[in-house]
Amino acid sequence: MFNLILFGPPGSGKGTQATKIIEKYKLKHLSTGDLLRAEKKSGSELGKKIAELINNGNLVPDEMVQEMVKTFVFNNKECNGFIFDGFPRTVAQAEWLKEMLNPVNAEVNILLHLHVDDNILVERILERGKSSGRDDDKDVSIINNRIEVYHNITQPVMDFYKSQGKYRKVDGIGSIDEVFDRICNVIDSET
Ligand code: AMP
Repeated sequence: MFNLILFGPPGSGKGTQATKIIEKYKLKHLSTGDLLRAEKKSGSELGKKIAELINNGNLVPDEMVQEMVKTFVFNNKECNGFIFDGFPRTVAQAEWLKEMLNPVNAEVNILLHLHVDDNILVERILERGKSSGRDDDKDVSIINNRIEVYHNITQPVMDFYKSQGKYRKVDGIGSIDEVFDRICNVIDSET
C-alpha cells in the first residue's frame, strides 16, 4: 500500500491534482471535504451541524471526521493505497491516522505539500466559487478564516511528518500539468 497525504492551504489545487494522481497511480481518493459535503447534502441532523461549521470556514470536530475516514478506509481496504486530501487537518487527526493504519501494517508514506502563497489563494478560491456551488468559496471573510485556520491549526501537521522524514514540498504555482509533473517526480522517486 502506498499512502500519500496531499497537503496544502484551501485553494492550493489539492482536489484537481488528486483526480490526476488517482488516475495515473490507481490509488483511492479520500477527500474529507467531499465526505462532509455529502453528509451535509443528505440533510441529516449530523449534516446540519456539519453545514454550520463548513459554511463559516471552521473545522468539523476530529471524532466526526475520523469516523468517516475509518468507514471509508474499511470499505476500500483492498485498494493499492489512499490519497488523503484535506486530512489530517489537526495533529490529533495525524496521530489517530497512524494508530488506525498500524494494525493493518500500513502507514503514511509521504506528505506532499503543495506550496502556494496566501495572496494567490483568495483570488483562486473566489474564481472557483463561480462554479463550485460551495458557499464557503464565495465570501472573502470566510475564505480568510479558512486560511487562518490552516496556518494556526493545520500547518503543525507538517512538522509531525517532517520529524518522521516524510515531508516533501512541491511548488503549487504553474499550470495544472506543470504542477502534476512535479508531483509525479516526487511519487516516482518514492515507489
Ligand atoms: P475542503 O473541501 O478540504 O476544502 O474542506 C471543506 C471544509 O470541510 C473545511 O473548511 C472544513 O470545514 C471541513 N473539513 C474538511 N476536512 C476536514 C478535516 N480533516 N477536519 C475538520 N474539518 C474538515
